[in-house]
Amino acid sequence: MMNFDLHCHSSISDGVLNPAELVQRAAEKGVDVLALTDHDDVGGLDEAARKADEIGIGFVRGVEISVTWSGVTLHVVGLNIDGNHSELQSGLAEIQAGRRERAERIAHELDKHGIPGAFEGAMHHAANPRLIGRTHFARHLIEQGVCKDARTVFKKYLVRGKPGYVTHEWTSLENALNWIRASGGQAVLAHPGRYDLKGKATRRLLGEFKELGGEAVEVVTGSHTPDQHALFAELANLYGLTASRGSDFHAPGEYGRELGSGPDLPSKCTPIWHNWDINKQKA
Ligand code: AMP
Ligand code: MN
Ligand code: MN
Ligand code: MN
Repeated sequence: MMNFDLHCHSSISDGVLNPAELVQRAAEKGVDVLALTDHDDVGGLDEAARKADEIGIGFVRGVEISVTWSGVTLHVVGLNIDGNHSELQSGLAEIQAGRRERAERIAHELDKHGIPGAFEGAMHHAANPRLIGRTHFARHLIEQGVCKDARTVFKKYLVRGKPGYVTHEWTSLENALNWIRASGGQAVLAHPGRYDLKGKATRRLLGEFKELGGEAVEVVTGSHTPDQHALFAELANLYGLTASRGSDFHAPGEYGRELGSGPDLPSKCTPIWHNWDINKQKA
């Protein structure tokens, strides 16, 4: 079976490898088709595509868009997008500006808790000045000796109820799906098991996602348990959605899994790539 890894991050967002290094590592880990899906930025796609072409693995142009839905932050992956599409680009530019403004508020909150200078510190870890996120703050806090690793940072800081947490309004689910579709892409609901959704809210989300033109559910991802693989395989089928697989790799030993690792999709799923022209992906 071919190894599809359709979710990972380069230093264009909060990964540590640059796009070419990431593609190289994916090939070494046995990935046949890789999608680069940086948070809210498509700036790494050309470099990654060139590298994939050079070493002969399949490449899919992607992005992971930050969304607020019913007061909850969601991530929607777009696959096979045109990164040059103007509507998508202007939407992402808006989110990037929001990230910068949020980062200033995060730094202000940390300052109130006795950690000054975190904006500059986090920016220092952001290889792409357009894209600043909590992971950059986490790396700064680790470097400062405040916490020993990213896991600890996200337990003690930057999350609801902890120092450095701020609320933020991302774009709407409708906007994210419209931009992805307008640019020719397919929308995937990323790591649904991670969201803070109570009761029937997950089902309401899947229904709305499908209604708005969503295509797939990320069934296998670095942050799902085996039980969640089975649950979301079933829900994908129930809502007429196909299934995706991705590591959510960021850095060796950090958030997500190693590139290309993790189980195959459960056999009851229809893979999102069922009607892709794999030879075209490889071209
Ligand atoms: P942001 O989009 O700026 O709010 O940052 C979200 C990112 O933080 C995720 O994509 C992960 O890379 C990282 N993250 C979230 N939770 C954790 C965690 N528990 N441990 C390590 N990294 C995390
Ligand atoms: Mn991330
Ligand atoms: Mn995500
Ligand atoms: Mn991700």
